[in-house]
Amino acid sequence: MSTKKDPFILALPKGRVFKDFLPKLENTPFALKDNFENSRKMLLDTRHPDLKVLIIRGWDVPAYITSGAAHLGVVGKDILIEKEDEEFVELLDLEIGKCRLSLAGKSNLNSTSSRLRVATKYPKSAISYMNSIGIQAEIIYLHGSQEIAPVLGLADVIIDLVDTGNTLKENGMKELDKISDISTRLIVNKASLKTRSRLIAEITDALK
Ligand code: AMP
Repeated sequence: MSTKKDPFILALPKGRVFKDFLPKLENTPFALKDNFENSRKMLLDTRHPDLKVLIIRGWDVPAYITSGAAHLGVVGKDILIEKEDEEFVELLDLEIGKCRLSLAGKSNLNSTSSRLRVATKYPKSAISYMNSIGIQAEIIYLHGSQEIAPVLGLADVIIDLVDTGNTLKENGMKELDKISDISTRLIVNKASLKTRSRLIAEITDALK
């Protein structure tokens, strides 16, 4: 009888977080096997016989973890705040992908503003922030490149991630208020915490 376990899947987001996260796996028993760089495969082998790495969009990581289709996931806190209704447990702050969620605009807010058009891909964070400062918001949901929306008159302000501030500056905008610090987190499927606890502990320890 075979004793081989079902594969254990670690979901990683494509893009900048993937690049920042890879060095954390290097020199661990969970490093990716060679030849993944030019591959279009979405499920990759690692040095560990039970562990596979799934490469998807960050916004999709919570759904994979909640459903149990993947067991562990790496995802930005900005996304987790928007997906708080899904069921996952946050295990670790990986201390990468550090940036901030901020309000930005072409100029300071007019103290008489009672309603603002806010371009963002973070509607939950935007509504709760705008409520906290007592200004009514009309949310204009955009998938990306929010920085140009106020310049072209689509919105009055944006709520988006800021790192160096260069994107804002180059598009004639400025940071008006920091809403929250953001970093990349390790999340886990609730049931897997019990059924795959040993491997989860080993991977978590290797990432600390
Ligand atoms: P910057 O010009 O360095 O302030 O970077 C801002 C741009 O990069 C914006 O379009 C952000 O959405 C994006 N960005 C900054 N930091 C992150 C991050 N940690 N994760 C994902 N996107 C980010």
